[in-house]
Amino acid sequence: MIGAGHAGLAISRVLSEHSIDHLVIDRGEVANSWRQERWDSLHLLTPNWQSRLPGYPYSGSDPDGFMSMPELIGHISDFAKASAAPVRTHTQVTRVRRVDGGYEVATDGAPLHARCVVLASGAANIPRVPQLRQAVPGSIECFTAFDYRNPACLPRGGVLVVGASATGVQLADEIQRSGRLVTLAVGEHVRLPRNYRGCDVLWWMEHSGVWSQRYDEIEDLERARGLPSPQLVGTPEHSTLDLNALQAAGVEIVGRLASIRDGRALFSGGLRNMFALADLKMERLLDTFDAWASQRGLDLEVGAPERFEPTRAPAAPRLSLDLRSGEIRSILWATGFRPDYRWLEVPVLDRKGELRHEGGVVVDAPGMYAIGLPVLRRRKSTFILGAEDDARDLGAHLAGYLAQGGGRG
Ligand SMILES: Cc1cc2nc3c(=O)[nH]c(=O)nc-3n(C[C@H](O)[C@H](O)[C@H](O)COP(=O)(O)OP(=O)(O)OC[C@H]3O[C@@H](n4cnc5c(N)ncnc54)[C@H](O)[C@@H]3O)c2cc1C
Repeated sequence: MIGAGHAGLAISRVLSEHSIDHLVIDRGEVANSWRQERWDSLHLLTPNWQSRLPGYPYSGSDPDGFMSMPELIGHISDFAKASAAPVRTHTQVTRVRRVDGGYEVATDGAPLHARCVVLASGAANIPRVPQLRQAVPGSIECFTAFDYRNPACLPRGGVLVVGASATGVQLADEIQRSGRLVTLAVGEHVRLPRNYRGCDVLWWMEHSGVWSQRYDEIEDLERARGLPSPQLVGTPEHSTLDLNALQAAGVEIVGRLASIRDGRALFSGGLRNMFALADLKMERLLDTFDAWASQRGLDLEVGAPERFEPTRAPAAPRLSLDLRSGEIRSILWATGFRPDYRWLEVPVLDRKGELRHEGGVVVDAPGMYAIGLPVLRRRKSTFILGAEDDARDLGAHLAGYLAQGGGRG
């Protein structure tokens, strides 16, 4: 198992249940990504009761709250202890190669040999920053979610946040509240209310079955795997953080950052259409929830169906911004993340660098598996609560592979 995040630990637990000898290796500590790569104020956007892991439900006193990073690190570390997971920390995997009888795993310590390898090294190892970053004038400081910690780390002055997924809206909100003027460049996004009909929207995602939809039932799987994270934040007030909320807080909304020419950032027009699309998709999802509630006879148990104000389009959104004028002093790229497989010397990546796998069973690499990637086996796969079902499916596959003599030299 490469990676001692929640996903690697989840499959470790399942392999222990199958009495399969294994080792979980991590370059840092357990839950390393949450320790090293997140900003200070981050709380999960999934409620605590959804932070359950195989055989390990949330048992704290605030099931509807949202964990801070120290709380989450504690939760994952406690799970590792409760599972007696065989973790080797501070060991970086530097190369994985196919050899007779399985895989050779080179590390910065002793090399290992394994009949099976599970890639649990994370989906978000490197921030994705578009090429047009190269055209940003040198007077502007650039940050990603990996190097931003809190507003004090930014230079004084205006901030352009690029990207309106969960990361982008959360950081735009925090930075605007710190007293800086924020301009948010919005591309395709997923709008969700925090609460719907009296319940958390993620309660609906889970119970209505939307999150359990399997990868092989999804029409456009590539698109589903590339969707941005939903505009949600976990706060004690359970507030909605959509573009209307951000505009009310004073954030200026502009279109997608299309290019930077001669020091000017150019934004796409068509905000109205983009907002209409995001609103429509949200309404369709709410329709699905309503239909499910009626079918289950829950209409009297939950609140009445709700519909939300459409996203307000600014009257005349700016189409360009002079990055040399001094109005903007820093850019925060909240343009997504990607996995890092530079150490993987097995030809299993496609031309876009994506892992070729069938529901987590890596293609053309018998005995190699992946867990924790977006929509790996289900829509919920990359979330903490998604790990259990995927780990059970893949653990059973791996056990079958070994039982049939797979990976024996
Ligand atoms: C900003 C952000 C917020 C999120 N918020 C939520 C949320 O609210 N709720 C939710 O359910 N999910 C959330 N997620 C999604 C998801 O839970 C995380 O992506 C999660 O970290 C994935 O778990 P994982 O175990 O697959 O990967 P990770 O937690 O990233 O674990 C991978 C591990 O592999 C190790 N590793 C990587 N490469 C190597 C190597 N070469 N050698 C050795 N070790 C290596 C890393 O050190 C790391 O510990 C969020 C993700 C991000 C990025």
